[in-house]
Amino acid sequence: MTNLPFGPAERLAALEAMTRQPLDLLVIGGGITGCGLARDAALRGLAVGLVEKVDFAYGTSSRSSKLVHGGVRYLAYGDVGLVRESAHERKVLGRIAPHLVHPLPFLFPLFRGDSAAKFRVGFSMFDKLAGSTRQERHRVLKANEIRERAPALRDPLTGGFEFTEYITDDARLTLENALSAAGHGALVANHAAVTSLLVEDGRLVGAHVRDELDGATRDVRAAVVVNATGPWAEETVGRGRSPAPKHVLLSKGVHLLFHADRLPVRDAVALKSPAGREGFAIRRWSYVYVGTSDVAHEGQLEQPVADQAAIKDVLRMTQDCFPSLGLTEADVVATWAGLRPLIAEEGKAPRDTSRHDEVWRSPEGLLSIVGGKLTTYRRMAERVMEHVGTELGRDLGDSHLTAEVLLPGAELGGRDFATFRDATAATFSARGVPAAAVERITWLYGAGADELLRLGESDPTWLQPLAPGSAAVRGEVRLAVEQAMALTLADILDRRTGLLLFSDDHGLAAAPAAAAIAGGLLGWSDAEVTAQLDAYRHRARGAALPDTG
Ligand SMILES: Cc1cc2nc3c(=O)[nH]c(=O)nc-3n(C[C@H](O)[C@H](O)[C@H](O)COP(=O)(O)OP(=O)(O)OC[C@H]3O[C@@H](n4cnc5c(N)ncnc54)[C@H](O)[C@@H]3O)c2cc1C
Repeated sequence: MTNLPFGPAERLAALEAMTRQPLDLLVIGGGITGCGLARDAALRGLAVGLVEKVDFAYGTSSRSSKLVHGGVRYLAYGDVGLVRESAHERKVLGRIAPHLVHPLPFLFPLFRGDSAAKFRVGFSMFDKLAGSTRQERHRVLKANEIRERAPALRDPLTGGFEFTEYITDDARLTLENALSAAGHGALVANHAAVTSLLVEDGRLVGAHVRDELDGATRDVRAAVVVNATGPWAEETVGRGRSPAPKHVLLSKGVHLLFHADRLPVRDAVALKSPAGREGFAIRRWSYVYVGTSDVAHEGQLEQPVADQAAIKDVLRMTQDCFPSLGLTEADVVATWAGLRPLIAEEGKAPRDTSRHDEVWRSPEGLLSIVGGKLTTYRRMAERVMEHVGTELGRDLGDSHLTAEVLLPGAELGGRDFATFRDATAATFSARGVPAAAVERITWLYGAGADELLRLGESDPTWLQPLAPGSAAVRGEVRLAVEQAMALTLADILDRRTGLLLFSDDHGLAAAPAAAAIAGGLLGWSDAEVTAQLDAYRHRARGAALPDTG
């Protein structure tokens, strides 16, 4: 199933096939929720189509904190159900995507005045609910052990705990669900927007889909339509003429990225400033990101960027937690902002609003899945499928296959991930690929790294960096286009390679080479190459500090 062609030709074929044959299910939205749902439906044998108006993970699903987490925080809200479900899901994802769900030891420091006993009870309870393994179970640490791993943490540190979370690449996890869905028969297309819903005799019968690349419009008919558009959920409900039954509360979360040598944190640490502001710092490769804000958002939905107030707020917390480092705005390498699509609760601030999900049904029959988390997407799909079964009047079975079938990058030919990673890293290094690129590639692609090596065998230039010092190699662009449906430079540099957020220059030095390779494969004219580069430069400004862009 790995390395199926999933490029422009497959996209067009999927759109045409959707028009020809009525579907059982049309999914609107290619974030984690929509891609996970399409995969579930395909694995149950339904005729399913998915359309995404820009690109897989274009919305919140590439702008999260990138944690597959057990939800220890939800214990404080007494949300035992969510803890159980999240903890169960991280086990499942560790099984079906070990190449994308990496263990992350998390420090929880205590300061003078904190009650160690209270937190100990909390962590013990969490371990029990989560069914933590011996390696995952919390440990008590002395102040000097915490200091060793987060040397610049503020005083008066008295000790703390270590517990285990998991870090992922949210955009890749989303894409691999789309790939898996397509591999099991789903018709999947990005850059295809639903512009209106088709309602006949008061009943929803499909959607009007516009190809955002050539402007062509198509009617896609489906027995059931699911709105999985996250922050756009209310807007999409409105396209079926009825208002949404509840409001979506958008909460904006902002992250700041630093070099790990400016903000030394070995793995991850929960932060609490003397003023009580809470957050976290997470190591990824040679960077550490800090998050996050949780503030109601009322502005536009497209490509939200970190605003000055949120940047100041997160930076202030970082400064207060690591006072000796003298961090300033000049140390911020990149920023990103995402919108949490929460279900509004009367009188509750965003931070206190539950992360649970709900399925709404409009009078015309549109099903909308709203709320939720990256971690629990598979269970969300399962809940939606119950409603789909009701609409279809069919028993669709259960979703055990989504917990058993590996995601494409996890097909490692029987090798465990650590063995695969070490062997693959050694091969890349032997072929002269720089260490930073090797670390990135083996962390991100799983089995896809083998495909890159095969390209390198056919022509070693595919293993050359996109630009001097770039942590991405030329072959990644080719695979993004041919096997991951990347159709624009932003698709490639933001959501396939991750250079937009995780590189010192937002991938700008790599952009011309990437545009040349992609342009060659996609038939871009010179004018199109220039337009793609201009659009990408604009995008990169959004990932910089606003006043440095
Ligand atoms: C700051 C922040 C941090 C977070 N951290 C975590 C975390 O660490 N762990 C965790 O588990 N969860 C986390 N979450 C939550 C998680 O990221 C979201 O719940 C999840 O990504 C939402 O996915 P989605 O698919 O519902 O929405 P989205 O990812 O936004 O996807 C919706 C898609 O619908 C498409 N769309 C919209 N309108 C149309 C249309 N008319 N036609 C076709 N397509 C359309 C959009 O382009 C978009 O791609 C975080 C959220 C935020 C904001």
